[in-house]
Amino acid sequence: MICTRFAPSPTGDLHIGGARTALFSWAYARHHGGKFILRIEDTDLARSTPEAVRAILDGMAWLGLAHDEGPFYQTRRMGRYREVLAQMLAAGTAYHCYATPEELEALRAEQEAKREKPRYDGRWRPEPGKVLPSAPPGVNPVVRFRSPREGIVTWDDLVKGRIEIANHELDDLVLARADGTPTYNFCVVVDDWDMGITHVLRGDDHVNNTPRQINILKALDAPIPRYAHLSMILGPDGKKLSKRHGAVSVMQYAEDGYLPEAVINYLARLGWSHGDDEIFSREKLVEWFSLDHITASSAQFDFEKLKWINQHYMKEAPVERLEPLVVARLEKRGFDLARGPDLKAAITLYVDRCNTLEALAKALEPLYTPVAPDAGLIRQHLDDSARPALAAFATGLETVAWEAPAIGELLKATLKAHGLKMPRLAMPLRIILTGQAHTPSVDTVITLIGRETVLARLREYRS
Ligand code: GLU
Repeated sequence: MICTRFAPSPTGDLHIGGARTALFSWAYARHHGGKFILRIEDTDLARSTPEAVRAILDGMAWLGLAHDEGPFYQTRRMGRYREVLAQMLAAGTAYHCYATPEELEALRAEQEAKREKPRYDGRWRPEPGKVLPSAPPGVNPVVRFRSPREGIVTWDDLVKGRIEIANHELDDLVLARADGTPTYNFCVVVDDWDMGITHVLRGDDHVNNTPRQINILKALDAPIPRYAHLSMILGPDGKKLSKRHGAVSVMQYAEDGYLPEAVINYLARLGWSHGDDEIFSREKLVEWFSLDHITASSAQFDFEKLKWINQHYMKEAPVERLEPLVVARLEKRGFDLARGPDLKAAITLYVDRCNTLEALAKALEPLYTPVAPDAGLIRQHLDDSARPALAAFATGLETVAWEAPAIGELLKATLKAHGLKMPRLAMPLRIILTGQAHTPSVDTVITLIGRETVLARLREYRS
């Protein structure tokens, strides 16, 4: 069975690039009817925080990327890592190294002076016939991997193609520190093995770890998963995507008013394609997803395209879905929704003009506040020659059938009778009724606001 995992380190918010890794891992497992595991790599105690764990869980839940197993926490698996270390020590695939940090520093300086690549020289590495020094008293040893010296390590990366590394390039990496804590590469190996991971999808910043991890897996006689290293995501300027470019935390997108299905759809297209399809559902993604169409080159984040996709999903969403999301935003900011038009009708009217929920809420705000039109704006748009027309229109509104076409007709007829063009009335009406010069078409806005409120707001301009 195909088994993938997402293995974030909880050291900050769930980054949008991490979310894409999670999405691809999830989609791959779902496509094959396999299993998707969530693993929290929290062994770096100095940098891991419970808030970051929360942010990962919230982000995954918001995106709807449900895991089948986990979350597994590495800090709760220490017993298991110790057990495997003991096995490796017993089998001779790992060994104790008593070199002190000072000795290693001196070694490095020596190598650098000779312009050699700094690397561990294997002084505590057991070899047939080699006599090791006796363990110095009072020094806690680290455990090192007895890395193969000969041959090459190779894998067929499912994104990058075949990768080969000569084993002599890799030194005997530390598996456990002097205080007994296991290191990152070792924990990943034990976990991928224990959890039956068949496909490791992760960022290509891990390519250098892969040959080491494969060698450790081999030493353990464990199956080697397939690897797919995803290229990193760049900002619009071609530099690594960062806060400088815009929001990078998944929950910031939630906050900014994006729908999760829009973010999912957008992320799916970031480095993966299915022909020319741009808009597709989560179900389609699962149906279509394969590793064959992941681009090996870096993908560039396009904030405008994300907005465009979000707008598509907002327009498509039933108003019943959008309403509570908008209510939450408006109520948080203290708007009294009882003091304005029916919110569902308002959303329906405004949604086409807005590409985030936040923009939608902002556009609706004036409908739920006492309108205080700017006198200067009114003066600018309402001149004396239009005032009689405005008064006549207001009178007509007292009795007109309250629906947009009838109100539109009344407006046109009034303009005609007074020999005026549309903006001469439409502009002042917009400003008087909503405080804003930009609104959806004025007949629909009038219909939305309701007869009583419209007439009340027009009253002072009727003479
Ligand atoms: N914990 C690692 C990270 O957040 C990922 C490890 C992996 O996927 O193998 O970068």
